[in-house]
Amino acid sequence: MWNCKHCKVDVSRQIAHPAIDSLGIHFVCPSCFKRNSLVGAGRGSVRLQQATAADDSSVNRPFLRSNGDLFFRQKIHNKYFQIQLTRDCLDRVFGSDGSVSQDTEVLRVNLKHIIGIAAQKLRDGSHSPIKVLCADFGLA
Ligand SMILES: [Zn+2]
Repeated sequence: MWNCKHCKVDVSRQIAHPAIDSLGIHFVCPSCFKRNSLVGAGRGSVRLQQATAADDSSVNRPFLRSNGDLFFRQKIHNKYFQIQLTRDCLDRVFGSDGSVSQDTEVLRVNLKHIIGIAAQKLRDGSHSPIKVLCADFGLA
């Protein structure tokens, strides 16, 4: 059960499906139609919970997997951006076998590098979600 932060109504997860867009993971309140942010809960899990301030400092970053790609929220220059790490990149650059545990490990070990690439793409004019792909690591 979620609770809309705008109108305070309790919302069943069966009614409000999580969705993702350029601003991140969220659900839309069926009562007031406003947006509520969500974050991944638990290491390597796609279980979702509502965002709290403490999530930003977490080392094991929550992420969402969608069609194999990883999405996570990152603060760059005092603004939040959604970063999308493509399946192709996870497999070919980082050698993940596609399991949640390996994807989690890839993200944990390579987070600084991935954020560095995203920050560079941002400077080059990319918009959220900032896509990190094989070409960014010199793979065609
Ligand atoms: Zn509401």
